[in-house]
Amino acid sequence: MPLGLVDARTRISETLLFWVRAALDSPQGRARTGRAAPPAVATVPAAALWLRRQLHWIVRSPAVEAFARDLADLRRDARRCAPWDRVRRDLPTRCPHCWRLALSWYQGDDWVTCRIPDCGRLLSWGRYHHAVADWTRLRLEHLAKETISA
Ligand SMILES: [Zn+2]
Repeated sequence: MPLGLVDARTRISETLLFWVRAALDSPQGRARTGRAAPPAVATVPAAALWLRRQLHWIVRSPAVEAFARDLADLRRDARRCAPWDRVRRDLPTRCPHCWRLALSWYQGDDWVTCRIPDCGRLLSWGRYHHAVADWTRLRLEHLAKETISA
């Protein structure tokens, strides 16, 4: 049975709040969160932000595989419910922050996104064009050095 939008929204909320509770109740969570307060409100954005701030230790916990699987399921459900399919165009310039070849533009966005999860930078088009200019200048300098030394 296909998952409806309301079901998906409920599941996203319940799953994220489940993981907040699990993180707070785990021995690792009690040790690592110390006096860190749980999210002030039980909303998806607050839970997601709180979990994101705990990722540095969650990724080393025994529950990380189940956590990652749940997040992947939520992401897949959300995309299935979305009434559009985003078009992605990969761009031929390295990210100026992580230096990986992972910049993309998604249809409808007014910015460029780095696809590397640890980076995830968002660049304005102006910043992207600066990155292209910087990358081109470095490539030309490198080629000129190769030509001179050859
Ligand atoms: Zn990056």
